[in-house]
Amino acid sequence: MGFIQALRGTRDILPEEIGYWQKVEAIAFSILDKAAYQEIRPPIFERTELFERGIGEATDVVGKEMYTFNDRATPPRSITLRPEGTAGVLRAFIQNNLYATSGVQRLWYAGPMFRYENPQAGRQRQFHQLGVEVLGSSDPRADVEAIAIATDILQALGLKDLQLNINSVGNTEDRPRYRQALVDYLTPYKDQLDPDSQDRLTRNPLRILDSKNEQTQKIVADAPSILDYLSTDSHDHFEKVQQRLSELGISYQLNPRLVRGLDYYTYTAFEIQSDHLGAQATVCAGGRYDNLVAQLGGPQTPGVGWGMGLERLILLLQKRLEPPRPRLDFYLVSRGEIAEAQALVLSQKLRHVGFSVELDLSGSGFKAQFKRADRSGAVACLVLGDTEAQNQTVNLKWLKSGEQQAIAQTDLLEKTDELRQQCDALNKQ
Ligand code: ATP
Ligand code: MG
Repeated sequence: MGFIQALRGTRDILPEEIGYWQKVEAIAFSILDKAAYQEIRPPIFERTELFERGIGEATDVVGKEMYTFNDRATPPRSITLRPEGTAGVLRAFIQNNLYATSGVQRLWYAGPMFRYENPQAGRQRQFHQLGVEVLGSSDPRADVEAIAIATDILQALGLKDLQLNINSVGNTEDRPRYRQALVDYLTPYKDQLDPDSQDRLTRNPLRILDSKNEQTQKIVADAPSILDYLSTDSHDHFEKVQQRLSELGISYQLNPRLVRGLDYYTYTAFEIQSDHLGAQATVCAGGRYDNLVAQLGGPQTPGVGWGMGLERLILLLQKRLEPPRPRLDFYLVSRGEIAEAQALVLSQKLRHVGFSVELDLSGSGFKAQFKRADRSGAVACLVLGDTEAQNQTVNLKWLKSGEQQAIAQTDLLEKTDELRQQCDALNKQ
């Protein structure tokens, strides 16, 4: 029978690569924790209407990328695998009355998202995002705090050559005026626009600014700028965001063509891009969404957030870092029935006093076991043969220097301080 392959656009994240993921997660979690962001885990599927209402029906995501199906309920109901995190987090926020708890809610999430897209490097059908949502503050400092956390994470990972682009997409009063100005400007060029953009001219004209089509881009280059259509309110908010970013020493570029693919943004919109990812350049994207909670049926609550594409982040990390390997203190080798039995007991006891231990289970000769010890990445090999078993000792061999010593098993388990220091030091190298 034929073998069943994974679906196109999905990937197995294998052990050899998992170190990158764990490193990203550990760094992100510690930075989020320090800023008092709390994790939330909404379900991976929701009612389709949630995304239609939350993301906007005229967006690419809702229009052509969602994994939507009827489940087994009668009458049938439409379910969608989440294509992004914000709608689900906000639904949970409303449903669980989190707005009643205290002033500002700072939430983060991480996990798989699903979009039916054309797979390529940095673009998959199941991909992973880390995201934050700050709910309940309209202060420009909230926008800046969220951005600063994203830049902190990227910096702590040692990623360079990243650019922060920011824009203001105004509020619900400014937007219709700008939209009209844009439509007025683009209509005479309608025939020269790419077919997608022609379609958007009536449905979602702001998205045309984001077109990747060269001819369209040329036309758009001279289009009116949204920054000339901002109300005093929007303008002030945007000024403050820029000022606060500068005070934090976060450099940015103004990009009046930046509009996000999701319809819910108001005021600030931003993206962080890399020069090293080809067409899939955006690593992190987000903005403010002051009407979204209300739009989803909750109380009027301002919010700001972002989503980070972890696959893209890891592609960048792989270019600059060897795969982070798991820490391993001892590789335990044994031969002979008594020694093998003792080795199993010893491995458990060593773990209980805090060492990491890999036990060789092969039953093969010492030579083959030593080879595996060398490849294991352990800092030391512990050897238990007949003699050692009889004497309740073990032979400890530091794999880097080749130095060896015989140690009583009790010493190994009781006088651990010095050994642990040696292991820690060698594990760091
Ligand atoms: P793009 O323009 O690359 O399609 P987007 O505007 O659709 O991105 P968002 O919905 O804002 O992206 O998602 C936030 C981030 O999630 C993106 O900046 C990107 O890093 C990542 N991302 C989005 N779609 C995918 C995907 N199909 N595969 C991998 N990462 C993705
Ligand atoms: Mg997209």
